[in-house]
Amino acid sequence: MLRGATQHFIKRIALYRVELPLHEGAYRWAGGKSISVFDATVVRIETRGGLVGYGENTPLGSAYLPAHPTGTRAGLEELAPSLLGLDATKINKVNSVMDSVLKGHPHVKSAVDMACYDILGKHSGLPVCELLGGRYDDSFPLYRAISQGSPSEMAASVDKYLSEGYTKFQLKVGGRDLAADIERIRLCRDMLDVRAGPGVLPLFCDANTGWLMHEAMQVCNAVSSLPATYIEQPCLSYSECLSVRRHTTLPFILDECVDDVHVLNRIIQDKAADCINLKISKVGGLSKARVIRDLCVQHGIAMNIEDSWGGDLVTAAIAALAQSTPPPLLLCSTDFNSYGPVKMGDTTCRRVNGRLSAPLEPGLGVDIDAAALGHALFVCEE
Ligand SMILES: [Mg+2]
Repeated sequence: MLRGATQHFIKRIALYRVELPLHEGAYRWAGGKSISVFDATVVRIETRGGLVGYGENTPLGSAYLPAHPTGTRAGLEELAPSLLGLDATKINKVNSVMDSVLKGHPHVKSAVDMACYDILGKHSGLPVCELLGGRYDDSFPLYRAISQGSPSEMAASVDKYLSEGYTKFQLKVGGRDLAADIERIRLCRDMLDVRAGPGVLPLFCDANTGWLMHEAMQVCNAVSSLPATYIEQPCLSYSECLSVRRHTTLPFILDECVDDVHVLNRIIQDKAADCINLKISKVGGLSKARVIRDLCVQHGIAMNIEDSWGGDLVTAAIAALAQSTPPPLLLCSTDFNSYGPVKMGDTTCRRVNGRLSAPLEPGLGVDIDAAALGHALFVCEE
């Protein structure tokens, strides 16, 4: 054992719940689903040597992925006793232990993996972005999700967020009213073309699994001549999406069905997508997301690097992974911490003119405000 290594052994784990309301009231997507207040879980891990790391998991409510906020906390309570005494800087081993004592539930493990990266960064004096391969450029571009509404409301939202500096937009489509979806896409495409020039800015039409194959094909055919217009996760299953993919010429993104590296291998074999949406917690944390990110880089698959949702901690983790990705392969990323007013602490990881920069401080670079976390809901300690 290395001299002094025991100082990184985990001695205390505490959980907190933070409510994250939205500026705009409600976020709506396919199938009439919506959410107005996100339920974030923050995990605080303290080592025997006194280093503290934070991680976060914030599902998109309970009806989007096989993940829900109370499940995150229940899973962390289940895992915590097995984590005490582990070296937080040996992140692969921490992940091996988590996978051996809790089958599945990758979103639960993501918060722990993130906190361990925060500790490793603070121990080594390096930002997490450097631990994930090192940063490119000074900043990277963000997309803005456009909550589902009427076509004119959505076009007005695109107009508004263009003015705030965003250059990439993800439209929430995927309704049963196909004419409305087609109109949403056309009006928002028109708005982008008028404001920035024809086809200059990309438009991601995200159905969030909301269409059946025949519905997806009608929409794809109707908008097939529009420039820089992408189709994202049209249907529920991989095979349905693959069928649509094989019948459209539009650039194609897979999201909800990208669960792990094994699915990515299928995508590569089947040429099932041009791009993927890589959600850190969906695949189990930064460690596993990095494997997928690096494989995508090798195969020329561009990525939207993000998470299901999040506050300052998730946003900092996203920024670390996004900014250590070669820029041509980074389709876009997101700044969840600008969608609502709640701050978890001080950080430089805040949007400036439609772009974001990973913090330069060691670890995740979020100086947590204890008052923002409130009282611990659960504590497990040696
Ligand atoms: Mg998506």
